[in-house]
Amino acid sequence: MSRPKKLPLYIDGRPQKAISGKSFGNFNPATGAKLSEVEQAGRRDVEKAVQAARKGFQEWSALPGIERGRVLKKAASILRERRMELAEIEVRDAGKPIAETPEADIDSGADAFEFFGGIAADIKGSHHDLGSDAFAYTRREPLGICAGIGAWNYPMQIACWKTAPALAAGNAMIFKPSEQTPTNAVKLAEILTEAGLPKGVFNVLHGRGETGQFIATHPDIDKISFTGSVPTGRKVLADAAASVKHVTMELGGKSPLIVFEDSQIHNAVSAAMNANFYTQGEICSNGTRVYVHEDIHDAFVAILKSRAEAMVIGDPMDQGTHVGPLINADHFEKVMEYVRLGIEEGAHLVSGGEKIAVEGCEKGSFMSPAIFTACQDDMRICREEIFGPVMSIMSFRDEEEVVNRANDTEFGLAAGVFTQNLARAHRVVGKLRAGTCWINNYNLTPVGVPFGGYKQSGIGRENAAVALDHFTQLKSVYVELGDVECGY
Ligand code: NAD
Repeated sequence: MSRPKKLPLYIDGRPQKAISGKSFGNFNPATGAKLSEVEQAGRRDVEKAVQAARKGFQEWSALPGIERGRVLKKAASILRERRMELAEIEVRDAGKPIAETPEADIDSGADAFEFFGGIAADIKGSHHDLGSDAFAYTRREPLGICAGIGAWNYPMQIACWKTAPALAAGNAMIFKPSEQTPTNAVKLAEILTEAGLPKGVFNVLHGRGETGQFIATHPDIDKISFTGSVPTGRKVLADAAASVKHVTMELGGKSPLIVFEDSQIHNAVSAAMNANFYTQGEICSNGTRVYVHEDIHDAFVAILKSRAEAMVIGDPMDQGTHVGPLINADHFEKVMEYVRLGIEEGAHLVSGGEKIAVEGCEKGSFMSPAIFTACQDDMRICREEIFGPVMSIMSFRDEEEVVNRANDTEFGLAAGVFTQNLARAHRVVGKLRAGTCWINNYNLTPVGVPFGGYKQSGIGRENAAVALDHFTQLKSVYVELGDVECGY
């Protein structure tokens, strides 16, 4: 048997060993096979990456936007050429079904490089007329060194969504992928180098929370863009506050999906399934609180149950698999604990929620998608982020009631509304306190549309031109054309 490879850090345009001398294992969630021994960045490695990024920033930020954009668009085309190879890496790292990954992970990453590559030449300030003797203008300037810290559920997408706008704006980036899914960040670094990115502009540091903390507390890093859970986000925010860094926070959620009685029921069921079972339910924006109008509740549940029970749970590398393993055994235990808790709290488990054995993947932690009915708003399964395939269904009677119940949460990442009555759809969406809302669909995140959370689900936005605002700072320049007035 061949020994697992070493996965390097990537600093100053090349793979590097960690000065720390430490490393950790990376394992395939489906098979338990060791994929690599990962170099772990310590404080001195972080320092080295900061030095490299500072130099890279000088060169990169001096280029015209059109030239930066050309590199990003080249990276997009390499990502597309290598999409299957990269998708398979993602499946081995994260356990996501291969049926989803080329499009949801790699294409959506490539879209970000294409989009921000396209608008890099159009980053601009504004002109302010101050009469005949003066004017002012603003410049949108890069922040300097931006750091990205990622979650494990969409490793390549998260890396690309942060890196593409950061680089388009002229910043350098230090990216720390989740310790559970470190491989594709290094691939992205290689691709960016191949696309012509100057050395030091994109660096990868591996490690767990401690490495993340070295990054978040480093005084010469100008911005942290974090994707992860609310509790970790709070810590990162507090650490970033010490040196008053810019921050973007993409955090967790417990989003509502409201299905009115006039919905096209099969579409609403499809959306509820996408909103709970895609990527084994390991998606931040999932609509895990499904409010179904009492008139269609039973019909909705019957269709949902039969379709959910037909889902194929299996080896994520098989094209026919719909549900892969959860990321690891600890996370599986946490999700199963919520299933037990739901039963204890009095919800009715109508389907799934069981451990499933998959041939050839005996070390994987697989479960059948769980559907609870008779849920109450105050149950823990309806209030806390589970981050697995567990759907909680509640019934409702009228619009005002459901809007109040949907908003009664500390989160505010996303929300969905199903109805054929478009006046009602827009009225309800206008009242929902969530950063991204879908009408008659769920969980679609095209690169041209801003994405991010209200309340404790986040600060700032990713995607769309507005993301550039979060990777730049505004300089105002007053220009005098006349004499200086002075009363002295
Ligand atoms: P997590 O919060 O445990 O870890 C996220 C990252 O933070 C990892 O890279 C981890 O190593 C690092 N980290 C841990 N402690 C740290 C510290 N003290 N300082 C700095 N970095 C630290 O989250 P996770 O389990 O990897 O991901 C799941 C969570 O991510 C869920 O809550 C999910 O909703 C959220 N998420 C949000 C979005 C979004 O766009 N809003 C997208 C994907 C995932």
